[in-house]
Parts: sequence; structure tokens; C-alpha cells
Amino acid sequence: MSEGFANDDSRSGPPHHDPMADEIETNLDEVTNSFDDMGLKEDLLRGIYAYGFEKPSAIQARAIVPSCTGRDVIAQAQSGTGKTATFSISVLQQLDVNLRECQALVLAPTRELATQIQKVVIALGDYMSAECHACIGGTNVREDLAKLNSGVHTVVGTPGRVHDMIGRKALNPNHIKMFVLDEADEMLSRGFKDQIYNVFKFMPSDTQVILLSATMPEEVLEVTKKFMRNPIRILVKKEELTLEGITQFYIMIEKEDWKLDTLCDLYETLTITQAVIFCNTRRKVDWLTEKMQSRDFTVSAMHGDMDQKERDVIMREFRTGSSRVLITTDLLARGIDVQQVSLVINYDLPVNRENYIHRIGRSGRFGRKGVAINFVTSEDKRALQDIEQFYNTSIGEMPMNVADLI
Ligand code: ADP
Repeated sequence: MSEGFANDDSRSGPPHHDPMADEIETNLDEVTNSFDDMGLKEDLLRGIYAYGFEKPSAIQARAIVPSCTGRDVIAQAQSGTGKTATFSISVLQQLDVNLRECQALVLAPTRELATQIQKVVIALGDYMSAECHACIGGTNVREDLAKLNSGVHTVVGTPGRVHDMIGRKALNPNHIKMFVLDEADEMLSRGFKDQIYNVFKFMPSDTQVILLSATMPEEVLEVTKKFMRNPIRILVKKEELTLEGITQFYIMIEKEDWKLDTLCDLYETLTITQAVIFCNTRRKVDWLTEKMQSRDFTVSAMHGDMDQKERDVIMREFRTGSSRVLITTDLLARGIDVQQVSLVINYDLPVNRENYIHRIGRSGRFGRKGVAINFVTSEDKRALQDIEQFYNTSIGEMPMNVADLI
């Protein structure tokens, strides 16, 4: 447990109160199946419909209304089911646009995800004149300062840059009334937890906290006790998380060295729509990209060692569909939403179980069909069985006609 959160007793409930798993209230029975019935502002409703949404998804029907009441919320639903819009709508609903101060702070684990969220907030808030700024590393600090000084209503960012901007007094936390953590389990995990606390400690004491993720291990729920007050928990069980609509396969590949040929054989299938290929290290991404390109296959690559400008170009090309096959690391395992992706390949099996579900969730967005193919060497057999068992799902051998499923 982080020192920071551990010491922050001001926000945890009375000592005898233990808002753990079963004790946290869930409101799964309260379902609002139309955006019209959520009591949202007219200009926000217009933005929602103009964005193309007609009906709320399951998580939206359950989580938007309680989130708009100002209560702390933990919302867990599978990938691609509309969590971004869930909190974006809740944030926009509670903004006072006449006050040109930051009133909501959203943190995300990667710059790409933060930028994607910012675009959704801007689009949904189009008719409200709600200003939203992406405050992320790797960008020009001076421009960041100028934008923040001009007065924005919402900031979506990565923890490092946001902390920096608070430190420089460019981001004034005093009017913040909503603090949102997307991919909350990742954000509260070891590497990130202290950074989050460093930002969180600047929040006014009555700030509403909203947490979202597809996965929420128990130890993370434990941490949330330290800084959430009597949260409503809207949670789908692990067993129900097996990504409906995503068909999962494995291909047995005797030797690591043979994976490359297998991937090349699959190339045509990859380009039917768009595909993401996951490797476990940056070096392997570079290696595989080079090998594919030297065999005249068109692929692009992205990982955290590349500079931000380059990352932006690669992401743009992939989002617009001008590149179709993207080789990457777990940097893009979470949150990234490209609706055309219908195939995910685990060139390497992920080292942790959570990332398996996040990775394969890059396909099959919002109820679309998706296929995940796992490359499995004899050493990986156990790990694959573990994944099957953990998610109570079955992963069959890839059939010849896999292209028909995409
Ligand atoms: P999550 O955060 O749960 O992984 P996203 O918020 O990225 O999922 O949503 C996945 C996709 O579904 C996005 O392309 C989004 O625009 C779309 N979407 C979300 N909610 C709706 C809705 N109510 N109607 C239609 N499409 C939606």
C-alpha cells in the first residue's frame, strides 16, 4: 500500500467502516435505458446524439446517473463498452461552463489514451462550449502553460505532466470537483500509485472520485478504501468478463524462431480489416517490424521509446486506416479505441493476466466481431491454460477458415 494513500486518513471513512467488496453498495438494479431520461442538460444531450449515440450501453445506463450525483463511483465493465463516454458525460453534466476554471481532472496511463479521451470530451461537449485540454508528456511545455492559463474546464492528462503543471501554478486545483482515473487498476498499481497520490493530494477535500477499468484486482480495491468515500460500485464479475463477441484461438508453434513465418503466412488475414500485434518488449517490436519490412510486408510499429511526434503520426495513420497492421507493446493494451480493429495477435503471451483481456479488447469494439490469436510455444502451454481458467473461457486451435470469422 502506498505511504501516501495510507496516510490520507482525512478521506477514508470512520475506522470501523470497511467498504470492501460485498459491503460496497451496488446499484445494478437502477438502469436508465435512454439518454433522455438521465436528466442531462439539453446542450449535452444534443452533443451525445450528434456524436451518433442513440442508446446508452449497459455501463452507461447504470453509471452515468449515479456519477452525476457527485458520489464516488467505481465502474467496471468490459473493454469497448463505452466507459469513456460514461465518465465524459458525467463530467460534462457537472461542469459550470461560465466558470473558466478547471473543474474536472481525468488521469490516464498513456499519452495516446489521454488524447483519445480529450477528443471524446470535446465532441460530446461541442454544444456546451466546454474547453478540454490534454496535458501530456512529450509535448511543448510553453504551449501547455498558455492553454491552461487561458482557462479550460476539463483537463485530461498523464500524471507526470499534470503534476508539473500544478507545481508551476498553471493548473489551479482549487475548483476541481471531479477526479477521474481511467484504467484505474493500472493507475493504482505499483509504478503509478505514488504519482497519482502526488496529484491527488492537491485536490480539494470534497472532490468526487470516479474510477473506471475493465479489470479491478482485489488489492487495487483495497487501495481505493484510502481515498474514496462510501463509493457506489458497479462491477461485473470476472467470469462475465470473457469478451463476448471476441473469438479466441491459439496456434501451436514449436519454436520461437518459427513465429515469424507463421505471422507472415497470416498477413493477408491481418489486412482484411485492421490488426494489432502485441510483443512483450520494445526490442522485440523493433526486431519484428524490421523482419516483416525486410520481407516486404507493410507494417507500422509503436512503443514507448519513440518520441511523441513519431507516436502521434503512427497513431494518426492507424486511426485513419492508412496503416492496417500495428506492432506494439502493452503501451497500447489499454483503452485505445480503433473500431476497425477486428484482429489481435499475441505474438508473445502477455506476462500478466489482466493485460490479456485488455489486449484482446482492442478488437470487437462496442459489440463488433473480433478475433484474437495467441502464438503459443510449448513453454507457454501452462500460461494459456491459466488464462482460460482465470477467465473461464475456452481458447481453441485456430481453424483454417479463420478469415471468415473476421
Ligand atoms: P471502453 O472505455 O469501455 O473500452 P469506449 O468508451 O472506448 O470503451 O467505447 C468503445 C466504442 O464504442 C467507441 O468507439 C465509442 O464511440 C462507442 N460507443 C460508446 N458508447 C456508445 C453508445 N451509447 N452508442 C454507440 N456507440 C457507443
